[in-house]
Amino acid sequence: MENAIEVTSLIKSYGKIEALKGISFNVRAGEIFGLIGPNGAGKTTSLRIISTLLQVTSGSVKVFDCDVSKKAPEIRKIISYLPEEAGAYKNLSGKGYLEFIAGFYSDKTMLKKGFEIAQLGDRIKDKVSTYSKGMTRKLLVARALMMSPKLAILDEPTSGLDVINSKGIREIIKDFVKSGTTILLSSHNMLEVEFLCDRIALINNGMIVETGTPQELKIKHNVNNIEEVFLKAIV
Ligand code: ATP
Repeated sequence: MENAIEVTSLIKSYGKIEALKGISFNVRAGEIFGLIGPNGAGKTTSLRIISTLLQVTSGSVKVFDCDVSKKAPEIRKIISYLPEEAGAYKNLSGKGYLEFIAGFYSDKTMLKKGFEIAQLGDRIKDKVSTYSKGMTRKLLVARALMMSPKLAILDEPTSGLDVINSKGIREIIKDFVKSGTTILLSSHNMLEVEFLCDRIALINNGMIVETGTPQELKIKHNVNNIEEVFLKAIV
């Protein structure tokens, strides 16, 4: 199977802080791949490098065979990135926001898809400033997925959401990969990772300590869930 992402010996330093200490992993086209790890492990740094927003210090990162250091414009055309702390324009309605984004593209089916993914019903017509955190996050997930990117990079897609809204977004993501989009996400929620991800990489202190399917990792550590894998692998 084709690789959507190839990360090889990636090092990222911020001044004296070495946030990534030579990590390597591949994401196959069409899979949902999860990066999990404690606070400060290097998840957001990895996602921002793969999204071409941050330069590598050394090592190589390829997205569909394009090197992020050499072909950022080409890569930006085929990916979407949802930052952890993203916001939408508060003075626009949800509908207006999606229309604004869709205006950058020529694909006319995109908006319809965006409304479907957002699942905001009539509230799509209300101003974003009146939305709850969960509604805004759904709108932003819709923004990231509606253009049917070859690769969607979602930094904690369900961050700050309640159980019902998280489940809604997980189902949207799971459904969406059927149309061929590869998903790379980060999460602190072990249930989410287990439900969603075909494979996961466990990252701790800038290093990858485990990679595999949730099932493989549970068997390896002889435990019942990913939370236990996590706790065993990082100590
Ligand atoms: P969290 O789960 O808390 O969001 P994370 O796994 O996404 O954490 P990163 O945000 O990638 O972790 O941070 C990795 C390391 O790099 C941390 O030590 C962090 O303090 C450091 N770091 C991140 N961004 C910067 C920056 N702009 N300048 C200096 N250090 C940074």
